[in-house]
Amino acid sequence: MIFLDFTEPDDLEWMQWIQNCNDATEQLIKDYQNGIQISITNLYSEQKERFYGKPFYGKCAYCESSIEVNSPTYVDHYRPKGGIRYIDNTRVMIQENGVDIKPHPGYYWLAYDWRNLLPTCWKCNTWHEDQRSEHQIGKGNRFPLENQYAINPGEEVNEEELLINPMFEDPADHIYIDELGIIHVRNRSTKGETVIEVFGLNVREALLEERKTAYDNIKRKIKAIFSMDEIDPRKNREIDELNLIKEGSKPYTISARKVIRDSITEIVNTIGLIR
Ligand SMILES: [Zn+2]
Repeated sequence: MIFLDFTEPDDLEWMQWIQNCNDATEQLIKDYQNGIQISITNLYSEQKERFYGKPFYGKCAYCESSIEVNSPTYVDHYRPKGGIRYIDNTRVMIQENGVDIKPHPGYYWLAYDWRNLLPTCWKCNTWHEDQRSEHQIGKGNRFPLENQYAINPGEEVNEEELLINPMFEDPADHIYIDELGIIHVRNRSTKGETVIEVFGLNVREALLEERKTAYDNIKRKIKAIFSMDEIDPRKNREIDELNLIKEGSKPYTISARKVIRDSITEIVNTIGLIR
């Protein structure tokens, strides 16, 4: 998981979509207030192709795997749009005088809000049992908080969520990776612990292997660049590619950035040894 520095587009197509989303949201809020069954359409996924460009590059916003061309990109609602569950997957209820009266409807008013939409893989998006590890992973409607759930539109600004929306918060403040591909919690961050658990970041074997492979591949690439002659025409090409990777163009940027940092430290330490 890395920070995704998304700049809101200003082209006509996007602005028209935002307008449609605002209108649809207004209708949802009215319907809910009037006790009419709300119906959320897939209007929220209409701008999905934007997820293939910068800063998403067709990767899952949570685990950084490449979302296969042949498998659908799931548009995850960071704050779930239809019902909310605690981390143990039990339903969040609305209470009156300390008594459960009905299930929380979810953040229906954020169903079409781009700031609440992230591209994800099936494994991160859907609550399921990981067959190899037998852990329950994937987000589903889970959205753990430290405090009270918002019930009315706008109240969510007071929530202290335990997940990370990587478009608005840098995951690097809460997690880091080692050279074996294992994700660690930084400074005992509860958010760090929660994202590792919810997305199964350290129990999905293939994911661990791929992050390790990404680390090793970039390490080899850096070594190769160092061994190239100054006038070798491949050198600039390789450096350009490395910069693109560092920016996030390939899966597991978290691993790539770690190798780059480690390599710089190695060089600085080596220089320090030269008298
Ligand atoms: Zn994922």
